[in-house]
Amino acid sequence: MTRLSPGKLVIATHNAGKLREIRALLVPHGMDCVSAGELGLPEPEETGTTFAENALLKAHAAAKASGFPALSDDSGLAVNALNGAPGVYTADWAEAAPYEGGPGRDWYMAMGKVEGKLAELGPDVSRDACFCCVLALAWPNGREAVFEGRAYGSLTWPPRGMLGFGYDPVFVPHGDTRTFAELDPAHKHAISHRADAFAKLVAAAFIR
Ligand code: IMP
Repeated sequence: MTRLSPGKLVIATHNAGKLREIRALLVPHGMDCVSAGELGLPEPEETGTTFAENALLKAHAAAKASGFPALSDDSGLAVNALNGAPGVYTADWAEAAPYEGGPGRDWYMAMGKVEGKLAELGPDVSRDACFCCVLALAWPNGREAVFEGRAYGSLTWPPRGMLGFGYDPVFVPHGDTRTFAELDPAHKHAISHRADAFAKLVAAAFIR
C-alpha cells in the first residue's frame, strides 16, 4: 500500500479558507504542506458532477504537475429542501461579476440566493442542510484514495459571525446555537465535515 509519510504534500486548492483548515489538520502529522497556489500550478476546471469526481480531478492534476503526493478537497453545502443544491455548484452560486482588483466571488450574495430559494418554498420549509467534504489523495504514480465527511445542521438567517469562510455564517451545526462563523476555529475543526473526512483518512492509516 502506498502510504503518506511525513514529507512534502501538495494541497491542491487555491481557496485560502480551505488551505488554512487543511494545514491545521495536517501539521500535527508532520506533513510539509505547500499549496497548489503557492507552487503556481494551474487550477483545473471542475467538470465532475460529484464531489468525488472533482476532488480526484484536482488531486491528480496537482500530483502530476508537481511530482509530489497531493491532497484535494471538494466540498459544498447540500440543502434538503432544495434537493441537495447548491451541492457541487456551491462555489458557482457565489460567482459575481469581478470588480477591479477583487475576487469574483460574493459569499453574501450566495447565502442570500439559498435563503431566497427557501423563502419561495414558504415559511414552514425544512431548513436542514449538511456540509459535505470529499478529500482525495493522489500520487504521481496514479494511485488514489477518497474519503467523505459530513456535518449536519440547519440554516439560519441573517448571517452571523466573522470567522471561517464561505457559507459558515448561515450554518448552525446540530447540537449548537452558534453558526460555524461564530465558533472558534479549533472548535469548528473538531466537528466539521472536513474533520470527519480527515479522521477517515487518518483511520485508513494513510498518515502515520
Ligand atoms: P469547491 O470545493 O472549491 O468547489 O468549493 C466549495 C465551496 O463550498 C467553497 O468555496 C465554500 O463556499 C463552500 N464550503 C466548503 N466548505 C466550507 C466550510 O467549511 N464552510 C463554509 N463554506 C464551505
